[in-house]
Formats: sequence, structure tokens, C-alpha cells
Amino acid sequence: MPLPHTLKITEIFSSFQGEGLRQGEPTLFIRLTGCNLKCDFCDTKYAWKGGENLSIDEIIKKIKKEQKEFPASWVCITGGEPLIQDLKALTEELKKMGMNIQIETNATQYQDLNVDWYTVSPKPPDYFFQPEYTKLAKEVKLVVTQELSMEIIQRLRNEFSEKIPLILQPESNEKWSIDKGMMLLKESLKKGLRTIKISVQLHNIYDIK
Ligand code: SF4
Repeated sequence: MPLPHTLKITEIFSSFQGEGLRQGEPTLFIRLTGCNLKCDFCDTKYAWKGGENLSIDEIIKKIKKEQKEFPASWVCITGGEPLIQDLKALTEELKKMGMNIQIETNATQYQDLNVDWYTVSPKPPDYFFQPEYTKLAKEVKLVVTQELSMEIIQRLRNEFSEKIPLILQPESNEKWSIDKGMMLLKESLKKGLRTIKISVQLHNIYDIK
């Protein structure tokens, strides 16, 4: 039976994961439209508006088509902020296909979903996150913005278990941000904070989507 529920979608494409612990892994991406935050450093502002209403059936058909050419076993649901739309039916259908599911979220929203990997990326100014993510997050990704401080890193390191890596992600691989990320990493080490890592956006280095 066709599923009537629709989602607003900006794009569906295949690539590799450019950020975080899954960096470099072949992945199919579903980018949902809209975000409840408006970060000035956002590198996906094009996903704030527009988009196309697609039924779950249509999304699954597109994913299957992508997968024929690019047989990745992971799908990453991203945005924008994907959790401002109801993802229950989509994640259930992706699971029926046998996909591993990653969701990238700013963590201000929570839904009870069958998902393998949450990338949790709280945002300034308050770095708020829903409490469920202290158990669900596989990684916490912090964009190295002008606002990011040692106080924030310390606070989040205390709030998430040390088993969950906290990744410093320089903003758009810019030099000032890479330098600041390195400085924050060294400071974290000196303060005895555990499992803090530094990263870069691999897709910008490879110049792909
Ligand atoms: S939360 Fe993420 S998608 Fe939303 S505006 Fe901020 S950086 Fe962009």
C-alpha cells in the first residue's frame, strides 16, 4: 500500500561522509528542507527554504535508484534540521531496505526512531540539546565558530559520557578556525578532558558534495 505521508526534501544524492567519525564512508544522503535555527555560519543555507514535497514512496524510489549506481549501506538524513519533520515512516521504510541510518541533528528536537547513529551538533549561543541524546549520541560535533569557548567544551564534555567523542569541526576548513580548533584541542588536553578530537571537512578537500 502506498504511504501518503510527504516530506519536504532539498536533495537526495550519493557521496561519502565528509565529517565526523564516519568520515570517508560511502553514504546516501537525504537532505530535508527547513531549520528551526538560523546560524550565521551555516554551510547549507540553501536548505532553509524551498524543497520539494515527496511521498515516502517517492523518496524510497530515489534512494533505490541512487543505490543501484552507488551501493552504499548507510543513509544519512540531514538538513537543515531533519527532525522538524516527522521521520517515523521514512526511517521505518529505510530499515525495511536493510539500511544503516545516520541522523545529523542540532539536537533541539527529538523523535523516538529506530536509528543506528546520531551525530549531535548543538549550536550557539546556548548549545541546548534534548536530554535523550546523552544516551543516544554516537558523536558530538562542535563547529569551531567565533563563539566556541573552552567553557562550552568543558560543559558539554561533562554532560556527555567520555565514551562519546567530542569532535571539533573547523568552520568551512578556514585557517582561523583550524588554528582555533588546534588551540582548543591543546587546552582541552591540558585540562584533562578526554576523547576530544579535531577534524576537517573531507568533502571540501575532495571538492565534492
Ligand atoms: S542548525 Fe545546522 S542547518 Fe540549521 S542553521 Fe544551524 S548550521 Fe544550518
